[in-house]
Amino acid sequence: MAFDSLTEKLQNIFKNLRSKGRLTEDDVKEALKEIKRALLAADVNFKVVKDFIKKVQERAIGQDVMSGLNPGQMVIKIVNEELVELMGSETTDIQLQPGSAITVIMMAGLQGAGKTTTTAKLAGKYKLKGKKPLLVACDVYRPAAIKQLQVNGEKQGVEVFAMGENNKPANIAKAALEHARKNGHNIVILDTAGRLHIDEDMMGELQEIKEAVTVHQTILVIDAMTGQDAVNVAKEFNDKIGIDGVIITKLDGDTRGGAALSVKAVTGKPIFYAGMGEKLSDLEQFHPDRMASRILG
Ligand code: GDP
Repeated sequence: MAFDSLTEKLQNIFKNLRSKGRLTEDDVKEALKEIKRALLAADVNFKVVKDFIKKVQERAIGQDVMSGLNPGQMVIKIVNEELVELMGSETTDIQLQPGSAITVIMMAGLQGAGKTTTTAKLAGKYKLKGKKPLLVACDVYRPAAIKQLQVNGEKQGVEVFAMGENNKPANIAKAALEHARKNGHNIVILDTAGRLHIDEDMMGELQEIKEAVTVHQTILVIDAMTGQDAVNVAKEFNDKIGIDGVIITKLDGDTRGGAALSVKAVTGKPIFYAGMGEKLSDLEQFHPDRMASRILG
């Protein structure tokens, strides 16, 4: 999965630290320099890396570490803790409305990020939890997108609401909500149109949907393979339309994974889930602590 190369590098750095027994301040500084290089090579945002190393250094050069019994272990522990903190500390889930009230979730993201696939993955998760989701085809520009949502919805045994290509997404969302109320759906997931790049039209359309219906959770789907770009996209979406959290896809691939480490620090918004494959069951809840352990190997 992503991070394989980062993990290997960190393990080497740690092995070196452990073998030293007593550590001098210079040993720690040298190790931190190597960690910095490894994080940058994994495509972690530059400012995020700088802040991260500064924090670890402040703690590691403190007396408690240097006078500790096993300073090498202590540095590793600090790196672990700071990685967890970097990814948001707590596991954060998509927030559903209480009781039987309908939760409206809007999925946003660039074309190809994995939005439609992730929409169907989420629906499957909710169905397993006994919810009654409704998927809504708001991507009216690509007939293939509507079809793809229908095919995936069928695979998941979840109803898909579509009105073809000749309606405005905001109107489709409104009609879908009406349909959900009448048919006892308690989660409505809007699959919106992506573009190759962020543009005013896309943002305007998302804004219009938000004005037409009450959206409880706006989720941005980003592609881990696009590295630093994914994080820039997240920042821009958050600044323009406001997001509640992120789902990061393709973490199973041979990516460098840096986006997963940078998103929370750059946007302030948590990662809810991670896409770990093309199959509709390949969606994992994102746990910062477990992810940190995975990265450290
Ligand atoms: P959309 O344009 O944002 O709706 O993107 P799609 O849902 O059509 O996904 C684009 C491609 O990425 C498809 O080939 C998906 O199968 C693939 N994909 C989506 N999520 C994942 C993931 O977590 N891992 C992998 N390996 N592929 C994914």
